[in-house]
Amino acid sequence: MKFDELEIHELAVEYEDASAEEVIGWAIENFHPELYIAWSGQAEDMVLLDMAWRQNPEVRVFTVDTGRLHEETYRLMEKVEEKYGLRIEVYFPDSSDVEEMVRKFGINLFYRSVELRHLCCHVRKVRPLVRALGKVSAWVTGLRREQWASRHNIMKIEVDHDHGQIVKVNPLADWTEREVWDYIKKNGVPYNELYERGYKSIGCLPCTRPVAPYDDPRAGRWWWEKNAPKECGMHCSLETGGFEKIADKVLEGIEDGGKRGGSDR
Ligand code: SF4
Repeated sequence: MKFDELEIHELAVEYEDASAEEVIGWAIENFHPELYIAWSGQAEDMVLLDMAWRQNPEVRVFTVDTGRLHEETYRLMEKVEEKYGLRIEVYFPDSSDVEEMVRKFGINLFYRSVELRHLCCHVRKVRPLVRALGKVSAWVTGLRREQWASRHNIMKIEVDHDHGQIVKVNPLADWTEREVWDYIKKNGVPYNELYERGYKSIGCLPCTRPVAPYDDPRAGRWWWEKNAPKECGMHCSLETGGFEKIADKVLEGIEDGGKRGGSDR
């Protein structure tokens, strides 16, 4: 690692009051081309991509295509590639993992239990993410502290203990939703059409829905779940009891019954 844990902590303190542009500039200077900008079609990702591209048009952007995304997100991906003249590096889930999971639990397993939803996120999102991050030394995310309780304590620069101790950079940590949209409008940055239809956070099609203007931005994610973290495991490890065991069993192809209660909706 280019910086040890103590140095990263000192940098986090030093950059706490720095602008998002300065934080991205620091990341590019120290890690490009071993730096990935994370992109999933969210407004925050568009701000980061635009800011990074203005500093270095060769900046590398990656996404995880779960296979369950909205058509609008794919359209935005194309628009981004055209406008910025870059190719987003797409990572897909392992097809045999998906086949095994769907054969055992059905195509819409996520509606049946929090555990199975986490399993789907693990197979379709977390595993491809781990593969992607294995190729770089640092990544930049659009996480903001006000998004959810689990994000309140993020630093602008931190060590990513969940992904091989690489560096995780969160330039928008102290931004508000309003600031994100001000940047987009002011700079003519393209954004996902779904925001025009009441979505405030963009994820997979079956697990995301529009919300009321006064709702929490992440209220439309996994809306049927009660008292479960609105996270998929990409930004924090999820401790959900039997989840890891089920994931391992499924992915190792070990039969464990597979038919779980509840019906899809
Ligand atoms: S958000 Fe839904 S469809 Fe997407 S990976 Fe997670 S559970 Fe699966």
